[in-house]
Amino acid sequence: MSKIERVIIIGGGIIGTTLACFLSRDGRKVTLVERDALARATTAKNTGILALCSRPADHRAAMAIYGRKVYEALKTELKGAFGIDRRGSMVILPAESAGSVESIEENCRRLKALGAEAEILDGPEVKRRAPGLGVDVRAAFLDPSAAIVDAVEISRALAADAVSRGAEIREYEPVRSIITRGGRAVGVRTHKGALEADAVVVAAGVWSPFLTEALGAGTHVVPRRGQLLYTEKTDLVSRHLIQNASYVLDKTAGERADEEAMPRFRFSFTLDQHASGQCVLGTTREFAGYDERLTAEGREAMLGALRTWFPGLGKLRVVRETAGLRPWTTDHHPLVGPSSNIEGLWYATGHEGDGINLAPVTAHWIAALMAGRPLEVPNADLSLLLPGRLGL
Ligand SMILES: Cc1cc2nc3c(=O)[nH]c(=O)nc-3n(C[C@H](O)[C@H](O)[C@H](O)COP(=O)(O)OP(=O)(O)OC[C@H]3O[C@@H](n4cnc5c(N)ncnc54)[C@H](O)[C@@H]3O)c2cc1C
Repeated sequence: MSKIERVIIIGGGIIGTTLACFLSRDGRKVTLVERDALARATTAKNTGILALCSRPADHRAAMAIYGRKVYEALKTELKGAFGIDRRGSMVILPAESAGSVESIEENCRRLKALGAEAEILDGPEVKRRAPGLGVDVRAAFLDPSAAIVDAVEISRALAADAVSRGAEIREYEPVRSIITRGGRAVGVRTHKGALEADAVVVAAGVWSPFLTEALGAGTHVVPRRGQLLYTEKTDLVSRHLIQNASYVLDKTAGERADEEAMPRFRFSFTLDQHASGQCVLGTTREFAGYDERLTAEGREAMLGALRTWFPGLGKLRVVRETAGLRPWTTDHHPLVGPSSNIEGLWYATGHEGDGINLAPVTAHWIAALMAGRPLEVPNADLSLLLPGRLGL
């Protein structure tokens, strides 16, 4: 690999801005090009949960553990430029659910083996922690260190840090194409002209295929919509985030060999009550192309679950709604690293519902690969993220 001094990053979401921060810290000359303002796409339309319990306790949890430590260190270093509200999460197995207590216990054991705090709670203890809960509970899994962050706030803080180290952020400047010369990516073209670099990183979320397919390189990235509802304020109904245990299954649906084709619509209930009393209700997983509209089907799924899980909140008014597009990949792993076909082209996309958790590991690993230095993430095999696995 030839020496990389100048890097262009396409996309200013949580992935692009975190990358800009860490590549600038390595002394590279970074230019981030964003077609809109920073952090207005999927990075602005999510639940912002840093949690270990919402995924299988495998290498992905190990990468999320790593990410959380990086955020904690950055928060201290950047003196409160962003917050981390550590309030814990309960993954609940309702009495009528088909899931097994053993599978919850097994996930808990495996998370502990990765060094995480985790514990199993029985039904009465769950009700004590979530006084408004109306469903009968077989068991729950507590991830006490789960936290809520504002991904927009983090993106802006890390972009500012990058700028303080010499990076250039160009907003409202869509990249029209990636420029190649002699089969190598050497820059990008915008309406203002050509920008040259030694490496071009595609961090354009679900829009990444529009950039790479023009080069004859795909991305295997597909939009997977997620809808959220924000209610008016109410009295405390739960100290912790609430997730139906089926959430983990929905997130990873299609990974198991015995599963059928991915269904168009999946829904699994989550509730996050903010300190203000407002509740955020989630969420759907839908293949609906690039359609970012909210739907009656999604709204009814969330409000119906709210009535079942928290009957006392059945009449709460919805005051805000969002729908965002998660960058899903066909093999359920993000694409992070250099293209195996086009020199100078790099991928940092495909994080589906985990982009906030995995932005630090993504940025650290690309920084390490560009510098030719190793990166140790305990219990995680980072080579699983390399685009070459899909022939990219
Ligand atoms: C409902 C919902 C809940 C979620 N909850 C969580 C959660 O709790 N925890 C978690 O970790 N993750 C969560 N996610 C996932 C997370 O939001 C995403 O993985 C993450 O935001 C992806 O970030 P990104 O930077 O790749 O993409 P984006 O934020 O979409 O950024 C891509 C950027 O590229 C820009 N761009 C595109 N094309 C061009 C171009 N040609 N030129 C210049 N710029 C371009 C876009 O304008 C955009 O700003 C959730 C997602 C949804 C929808």
